[in-house]
Amino acid sequence: MFDFSKLELWFATGSQHLYGEETLRQVAAHAEEIARGLQLPATPVRVVFKPVLTTAESIYQLCLEANSAASCIGIIAWMHTFSPAQMWIAGLKSLRKPLAHLHTQYNEELPWPTIDMDFMNLNQAAHGDREFGFLASRMRLNRKVVVGFWRDAGVLQELAVWARAAAAWHDAQQLKVARFGDNMRNVAVTEGDKVEAALRLGYSVRGYGIGDLTDQFAHISEGEIDRLTAEYDNVYELAEPLQKNGPQRNALREAARIELALRRFLDEGGFKAFTDTFEDLHGMAQLPGIAAQRLMADGYGFGGEGDWKTAALVRSMKVMAAGLDGGTSFMEDYTYHLKNGGQVLGAHMLEICPSITHDKPRAEIHPLSIGGKSDPVRLVFTAAPGPAVNASLVDMGERFRMIVNQVSVVEPEQPLPKLPVARALWNPEPDFQTAAKAWILAGGAHHTGFSQALTPEHLEDFAGMAGVEFLLIDSQTSLREFRNELRWNDAAYRLNR
Ligand code: MN
Repeated sequence: MFDFSKLELWFATGSQHLYGEETLRQVAAHAEEIARGLQLPATPVRVVFKPVLTTAESIYQLCLEANSAASCIGIIAWMHTFSPAQMWIAGLKSLRKPLAHLHTQYNEELPWPTIDMDFMNLNQAAHGDREFGFLASRMRLNRKVVVGFWRDAGVLQELAVWARAAAAWHDAQQLKVARFGDNMRNVAVTEGDKVEAALRLGYSVRGYGIGDLTDQFAHISEGEIDRLTAEYDNVYELAEPLQKNGPQRNALREAARIELALRRFLDEGGFKAFTDTFEDLHGMAQLPGIAAQRLMADGYGFGGEGDWKTAALVRSMKVMAAGLDGGTSFMEDYTYHLKNGGQVLGAHMLEICPSITHDKPRAEIHPLSIGGKSDPVRLVFTAAPGPAVNASLVDMGERFRMIVNQVSVVEPEQPLPKLPVARALWNPEPDFQTAAKAWILAGGAHHTGFSQALTPEHLEDFAGMAGVEFLLIDSQTSLREFRNELRWNDAAYRLNR
């Protein structure tokens, strides 16, 4: 789905020539050991040691190299000794890759009986990193600050979260989103400034007529359709009408044709995300259901009704979550259970990713009731219980805003035998009323990226890299503070323009 193993983080250690060659040799040895020791949990991004930086020229050069290195997704900076930060200005001014500041120290403990001024001069991160922090703050740099002993599990976990966000950021800079048809007519929140999205978030959105997709149908052979329907037979439980010799077997073959055509279109064009809309299906027998679901399961981003912002966000969340336990999907707050404190039933017309269930999905066919096309085939299942996040990206006019809600997915208290779509039932944090009020006050969309694998911190790090406003609704949220945050952010983003 996504391969982290070719990606690198560069470990940049700051020092200066003041201390002599012997100290610099020790600094280099320590830094190399730390870089080797930064084995990020479940995240096979290589941390690469770079020679110790002692001059403005070498810092500038390293930042230029990082910018142009295709494998480099970010820099981890650490000041073992004091590194006068004016040396860092030219380099940091030019740096275009994400920056993490690791505030650590080579030794975990003070050597009480032997500590002397040589030790003090070697192990100066306590003030060397403060000098670096001042400059980064003076420059208003977006960066993550991680504090603690470099072997600590918590430190490695924080860096792993940031590394996953950096990988998604790296992916977004080359991301192409294919958009079949326009946004669903008159919907506001799924609109947005695509030029600003390209400038701010990196990805480009390309519009196509649905005919560009249906043209692919002629190139799909019956043999390919045979093989894919056989895969459906093996992987899913099929409703009776879709089974071999069932009365609607041909609709399953049509769904397979759509999946094959979509996959070929996306792969030939280098697209990792796409949107469609039930309002624009000329030449299509049915709205892509199982196709969109299976493409999401393979790591493609998707947004319904022309929602290219959510399609791109789902792709970025897929990259951040790759290899972790739990799934990631396009989602919509669909309907409520206003008992049990208030619960949200999340679903969509069809397009929910089967990565979020442990059950064997059931392929079913039912009328869509809107769009006026043939009945679409879809996978039906219930999301696994446990913690999850919902994330929304909206265009506030002069900036993008990301809103994230921590939720807890629960088992539905009763079976839902007539519900013909995949679903997730959750309790939002801190409680239903506060979460829904805060979400609505923030202008969060009905469409979201939903993930059981990610935490709010992944999304906060990603938003930080993009310079996008980040609002979190979780167990700590109080509405009074949240309203103030909205007001103050409005002022802050205007002042910073
Ligand atoms: Mn929708």
